[in-house]
Amino acid sequence: MKRSILLYSGGLDSTLLLYKFKEEIKECIYVKYGSLHSKYELECAKYHTNKIGIPLRVINISEVFSNDNSSSLLNNKKDNKVESNNVVSFRNIILVTHILPYVKAQSCDKVLIGSNKSDYASFMDCRDTFYKAINSCLQLCDSFIIKVETPLIKLSKEDIINEAKAYKIVNTRTCYSDTVEPCGKCASCLGLKEGVS
Ligand SMILES: [Zn+2]
Repeated sequence: MKRSILLYSGGLDSTLLLYKFKEEIKECIYVKYGSLHSKYELECAKYHTNKIGIPLRVINISEVFSNDNSSSLLNNKKDNKVESNNVVSFRNIILVTHILPYVKAQSCDKVLIGSNKSDYASFMDCRDTFYKAINSCLQLCDSFIIKVETPLIKLSKEDIINEAKAYKIVNTRTCYSDTVEPCGKCASCLGLKEGVS
């Protein structure tokens, strides 16, 4: 029985999860939160979910972040080469919790998310300690227990690139810039380059 929902961005990390766990994923959810590169991510998310035959649902919560100019992902005047500028405060707790009623309605009890070792230093809401706390909280807020799982949490970007190659994954969107082609300069593009070399 398919009992997982993938929180899917169209980036390399969550696309690896899509291919790796396709047998257990019932549906993917792309959450629009107002990021500048959203339309490019969504194109990749549509491409891969169509290819693999798993439904993609898009939820728009941009309004929640509309007053937040602190992150380069929401504000193109911020330098996205600096990783700390790329933090969107409270993003993962909001993304995860917004989809829970839908996950329950689908009779699913697992949410998969692509957080990994390369996120650890700058993104507090990508750490193991954060997900442990989220899961503890989820046991207290409803009799239907949903667990958030992070299968890539111990993998580096290099590990992820190598696994993605084994699945022949191409056409993912990881760049933060509002440009059709990946900019090659933002922290995300640089992290990808580092992982390849
Ligand atoms: Zn980039």
